[in-house]
Amino acid sequence: MNGGKPTKIRLNDEEAIATGSCSNSNVEEEDSSMCEAEAEADDKTSADYYFDSYSHFGIHEEMLKDVVRTKTYQNVIYRNTFLFKDKIVLDVGAGTGILSLFCAKAGAKHVYAVECSQMADMAKEIVEANGYSNVITVLKGKIEELDLPVPQVDIIISEWMGYFLLYENMLNTVLYARDKWLVNNGIVLPDNASLYLTAIEDAEYKEDKIEFWNNVYGFDMSCIRKQSIMEPLVDTVDQNQIVTNCQLLKTMDISKMTSGDASFTAPFKLVAERDDYIHALVAYFDVVFTVCHKLTGFSTGPRSRNTHWKQTVLYLEEVLTICEGEFITGSMTVAQNKKNPRDVDITLKYSLNGQRCAVSRTQHYKMR
Ligand code: SAH
Repeated sequence: MNGGKPTKIRLNDEEAIATGSCSNSNVEEEDSSMCEAEAEADDKTSADYYFDSYSHFGIHEEMLKDVVRTKTYQNVIYRNTFLFKDKIVLDVGAGTGILSLFCAKAGAKHVYAVECSQMADMAKEIVEANGYSNVITVLKGKIEELDLPVPQVDIIISEWMGYFLLYENMLNTVLYARDKWLVNNGIVLPDNASLYLTAIEDAEYKEDKIEFWNNVYGFDMSCIRKQSIMEPLVDTVDQNQIVTNCQLLKTMDISKMTSGDASFTAPFKLVAERDDYIHALVAYFDVVFTVCHKLTGFSTGPRSRNTHWKQTVLYLEEVLTICEGEFITGSMTVAQNKKNPRDVDITLKYSLNGQRCAVSRTQHYKMR
């Protein structure tokens, strides 16, 4: 999944709750004859896209062109056809239908491709154009609001991961589908996701993104600095910026976890591998398909090939000066925002007791 951000769409909290970021447009509800994709495309206004970013092909283009992401799913499916042969598959959030097509090609008996955005209409056309109409059924609607034509499925596949793994909260939708339809001993793909933390030197960018507000054409706009430091920045980090080890914060077993497990507090210890300054902590995630013949997955970390998820940078209030062997200890608390469950609240507690620098602080961030 994309995080809904490349088009720079920002939903205001209330609107997001009221509408859902992928609700069908009112036009569609009022006039059910408006099901021709072409007519819809012509009829779309920027307001439709504002509330429904996954209806626009641009976001799907970016995900499909993320080769690390899409190739990993393709490899998992094509190299483990034994998992799919004669199985019933549910594709949660099918988008263009790409994962459903992979599964159908790998020999699945039937695939239910559920997609709530207008892209579902395209997925139907794509399935037809590729001759898979007898194997893939595209269902347009929210997983939470529709009925499947079958009581159970053998496999649930989904690409639900958001920025910082949990932004947009689509994991809950996958867990909902798992609990409702997955057969006993059925499999969830992927079934393992882990969140990591490291620390970086990032003077130049912190200056540009955060300290910039202290003096804008000679004026003090530091009230905006306070807001900007609270918003984690999704961007690529160069591996040479990494100053400490990378600490595993949390591993989630998607086949067993409950939705409550996505909110947690995890301790960390980041040990400096050289003398340097630290401007930010950086979070990223790995995804693994453990049921494959050969363990397969990918990492979104700064030492791996870039993905559209990039990394998530959390700037620290003040610069830490750290010497090799010294460490930052603390904890990260991750929780769904109470007002808008698609947003993630992050609390970082950290302290450093070093030769050059002693700091103990709590900072709050909000992914939105
Ligand atoms: N599987 C596709 C798309 C992944 S993006 C691919 O791998 O390319 C996630 C998709 O899930 C989006 O298209 C979004 O509209 C859809 N989605 C999100 N929440 C959903 C829900 N509750 N029910 C149905 N679809 C959902």
